[in-house]
Amino acid sequence: MPDFLSATVAGVTPLTPRVRQLLLRVDGHTFDYAPGQHVSVRRTVDDGPIFRPYSPVNLPGTDTLALAVKRYEGGACSPWLHQRQVGDEITITPPSGTLHLHAPERDALFLATGTGLTPMLAMLSQYVDAGTGRAVLLFGERAQEDLMYRATLDRLAASHDYVDVRYVLSHEDWDGPTGFVQDHLDAPLASLDAPQAYVCGVPEMVVETQTALADAGLSEGDVFSEGWEEGAVAE
Ligand SMILES: Cc1cc2nc3c(=O)[nH]c(=O)nc-3n(C[C@H](O)[C@H](O)[C@H](O)COP(=O)(O)OP(=O)(O)OC[C@H]3O[C@@H](n4cnc5c(N)ncnc54)[C@H](O)[C@@H]3O)c2cc1C
Repeated sequence: MPDFLSATVAGVTPLTPRVRQLLLRVDGHTFDYAPGQHVSVRRTVDDGPIFRPYSPVNLPGTDTLALAVKRYEGGACSPWLHQRQVGDEITITPPSGTLHLHAPERDALFLATGTGLTPMLAMLSQYVDAGTGRAVLLFGERAQEDLMYRATLDRLAASHDYVDVRYVLSHEDWDGPTGFVQDHLDAPLASLDAPQAYVCGVPEMVVETQTALADAGLSEGDVFSEGWEEGAVAE
């Protein structure tokens, strides 16, 4: 496996006011990774190369990665990625990382805030293919307009009666749950049988969720997490 791959931007789609999906294609290459893993984008700036990880939302086995990138004003990489256009070349590392689906025969609880959804969507898609239990995805965002891939998630839930998707909004009054995802664990946990839990998003949410899941009786070995996006929901 080479250290770097040169990918061509094959599609750009706005998903929310701050998030764009980029399709990155490497002709003749087949991406092989565990859903939940990430690639790193390399951008060369004056001081040298910088690297930022992004988790593909699509399943492996094709020549294309679908990345969903949130723009951070003043960021070194995400505004630059938002300026890329179809036909541009982007250098990436091969996929790596420790987050992945562990036991598809077990019930699964996926918890995400913000762009923490990206590995969860990939793992939920894998679960739909390979899982034999029930899966609940709890996705926290500020407002409905920030819910990336909502149509995809709603379709997954509507097409599979063993998949349940719930949204929790922190900055909008609506007819669904409000506040923080970690405060809405009781109903999902009650619907699952000894689940494994996957958690990704704001570090505070990851820590509080780990505590809540431990209080609910999940063992440490059944909780898999990754924290990033500091302040993204609370800002
Ligand atoms: C394993 C992993 C997977 C990831 N997958 C994705 C993904 O699929 N999609 C995605 O959009 N991002 C993802 N990220 C985050 C991504 O790697 C970058 O951190 C993000 O794009 C910001 O990079 P930047 O160079 O634009 O900002 P930087 O130059 O690194 O930061 C500049 C300023 O932007 C703000 N900022 C930067 N990063 C964050 C942040 N994470 N939360 C809040 N404020 C921030 C801060 O004010 C910071 O001072 C992932 C991170 C990890 C660790």
